Amino acid sequence: MKLEPIWNIKTADISFKSLDRKISVDVAIIGGGITGITTAQFLSNYGLKVAVLEARKVGQGTTGQSTGNLYALTEFSLQELKNKYDLATVQKIILARIQAVEHICDNAKRFAIDCDLKTQPMFMFEKENGMDIEKEIEVLSHTGLAYSRLTKKHFPFPYEDGFVVEDQAQFNPLRYTEKLAKQIYSDTCEIFEDTCVSDIVEEDEFLIVHANENRVKARYVVHATHTPKGLLVQYHTTLGPYREYGIGVKLKNNNYPEGIFWGHFGDKKFSVRTYGLPSNPYLICVGSMHKVGQAGDNTQNIQELEDFVKKHFDVESIIYKWGGQNYKPADLLPYIGQKNAGSNEYIATGFATDGLVYGTLAAKIISDEIAGLKNEYSELFKASRHQPLKAAEKFTKENINVVGKLVGDFFKKGEDEQIADLLPDEGKLLQYEDGKYAVYKNHRGEVTALSPICPHMGCTVNWNKAEKTWDCPCHGSRFDTAGRVIEGPALSGLKKIENDK
Ligand SMILES: Cc1cc2nc3c(=O)[nH]c(=O)nc-3n(C[C@H](O)[C@H](O)[C@H](O)COP(=O)(O)OP(=O)(O)OC[C@H]3O[C@@H](n4cnc5c(N)ncnc54)[C@H](O)[C@@H]3O)c2cc1C
Repeated sequence: MKLEPIWNIKTADISFKSLDRKISVDVAIIGGGITGITTAQFLSNYGLKVAVLEARKVGQGTTGQSTGNLYALTEFSLQELKNKYDLATVQKIILARIQAVEHICDNAKRFAIDCDLKTQPMFMFEKENGMDIEKEIEVLSHTGLAYSRLTKKHFPFPYEDGFVVEDQAQFNPLRYTEKLAKQIYSDTCEIFEDTCVSDIVEEDEFLIVHANENRVKARYVVHATHTPKGLLVQYHTTLGPYREYGIGVKLKNNNYPEGIFWGHFGDKKFSVRTYGLPSNPYLICVGSMHKVGQAGDNTQNIQELEDFVKKHFDVESIIYKWGGQNYKPADLLPYIGQKNAGSNEYIATGFATDGLVYGTLAAKIISDEIAGLKNEYSELFKASRHQPLKAAEKFTKENINVVGKLVGDFFKKGEDEQIADLLPDEGKLLQYEDGKYAVYKNHRGEVTALSPICPHMGCTVNWNKAEKTWDCPCHGSRFDTAGRVIEGPALSGLKKIENDK
């Protein structure tokens, strides 16, 4: 069993060099996921000089941890969207998403990208009052999507009610993004990997992006980093960072179901699909979401997926397990566009679990805005569309409680843990007379002590047992056991404590 996403099974073996000199471009794009690479494609098509700066490898962020489903609906039900906005807005959201899926399909065709793209039906079903299908269909009937009521007798899951939307799609998201990157690369559309942005500074009318001891001078910067980097309080307090998990499973009887399956079982949702038919199929199951840094023992979340799959399928073995992050917006729609009025920095975040499509849509909106073109969706998804702090009340309160709770739980007098008690490959927050530490012991018994204070906004990190990382419960920054940033808004790592504890 491997602790890695299933998509690593078929990477394109493409790499790009890291930034090793000073450069000047029209647009610096931070992040080489589907959002960043697609933005680079649009902008270079508009004749702008672009550089993509990717901290690790193209596509291997959340894009390469996703389920690879492409659909017009969203994580939020049609009912929720209609109640929050109105029917015309729901129709517009669906149309925008259809166009984004079409762009992905066009790219795959045009560049002959072998990303296993397939048209598939999307099954939405419920048991134990998981969803009001009747009300959902009422809105669905006004969207123009081809659908029908679910009546299948031989369905892979028990269900009480459901519907199927035709002509949705599935692909390998990592393969698509890597190959698209290769196709768009040129002298005026450079892509740099292993290039971690550490700062963005305004200098006259330019933005100077610092990375790898070098600098990129740009007129515009796009934060295609899933959540914007640095201290953008107005956004980070409106985003709910969540973690969920995936497993890739071999079945005994080769009975792999085809389609996108979203099952709502009471308050639990499981997303299931098959990948790799006919030669090397896997069943993928994704779900068991929790707020970042707040799961306690998250090995139980992965166990929940395993139990679910074993209940419904004849499982031979579980081959892949992984985790991935999503950021939920306060008002159900992503934040796309200028950071604030007049800014030359653009953000694309709040995609919830729908960002392969929303990321592609964001790429088009932002590119149009930078190129001075009108985009019919700009206003709807405008990043600075409301008073974020007001809308974020819910999240802000939640986060404040969390910090208080963590400090209280872990640093109470008399609950101190000794490093000797740490198991190999285990981390814990420990209290010593002279301070608090995030302490990790590796397999060889070597101990790393870090400051547990997240450099982003000062919250206390928590140990992620399943993935062996330090996760911040406030805004979703995650750090490896050496304290280096993995993802989230933090620009710098956890401070190393240089003593022999
Ligand atoms: C389990 C799971 C399943 C999902 N399934 C689906 C699905 O089926 N369909 C769907 O539409 N959406 C799905 N999503 C959501 C979707 O995967 C994401 O919304 C989408 O991939 C976001 O793409 P992105 O390019 O914006 O971010 P990412 O893919 O995360 O790319 C951001 C990049 O920025 C880089 N970066 C970060 N910091 C820096 C820095 N300082 N300097 C340079 N680079 C940096 C990262 O290394 C990363 O590569 C799923 C999400 C999860 C977690």
